[in-house]
Amino acid sequence: MSYVVTIDGPAGAGKSSMARALAKSLGVHYLDTGAIYRAIALMLDESEININQPELISEALKDIKMELRNGAVLVNGVDVSGLIRTPHIDKIASEYSALKCVRDALLNLQQEQQNFGSLIAEGRDVGSVVFPDAAVKFYLTASPEARAKRRCLERELKGEKVNYQETLQAIKSRDKFDSSREASPLKVPDGAIVIDTSELNELETLNLLESHVKKILKILF
Ligand code: C5P
Repeated sequence: MSYVVTIDGPAGAGKSSMARALAKSLGVHYLDTGAIYRAIALMLDESEININQPELISEALKDIKMELRNGAVLVNGVDVSGLIRTPHIDKIASEYSALKCVRDALLNLQQEQQNFGSLIAEGRDVGSVVFPDAAVKFYLTASPEARAKRRCLERELKGEKVNYQETLQAIKSRDKFDSSREASPLKVPDGAIVIDTSELNELETLNLLESHVKKILKILF
């Protein structure tokens, strides 16, 4: 029996690392919906189509072919995974993803992923809009300070220059923007288990998620 587990929450709450780790330990697929929005933002930005041109956006999205393969995102056959995790893409992905035409165009692609088997999906609306009937829903959160520290560490490890205050401000403004947008705002999905990871390390968080999933799946299947 296949199932979907969703993990929603703000930037830096640990969704990506947890979804990846949980998928690995349960032996199922991992769906990073943020990577899809990031890839679309990159493509629209490179085509110089801005957020005030919804008709051009819809037209461009009709022609685009996106594939998700082993954790990589391919746009028209080109792997863009290495280009989509920059502060600039952080910002514009948030802006483009607030548009209904963008969300509508990407809904099918996300939902189709459950045809390949059980799935751990993470994002901003996976439990509320994309997979409202998911077997288990989580909402991971953490204080803005804890999240900014993690983002800085992540980028430092990649050899990038980081500024904590700027990262903190960017996280706060992205939270505000993602939560207040009209199309699929970031919110706790109905029935989601809320977990604050501010004081938890990765292993503690993973153990907690895994124990909830195993308990619920045992009841359901
Ligand atoms: O999760 P990540 O930081 O990679 O997502 C990048 C941006 O894409 C988010 O700030 C958010 O605005 C948008 N996003 C979204 N819905 C999702 C996943 C991401 O709006 N399901």
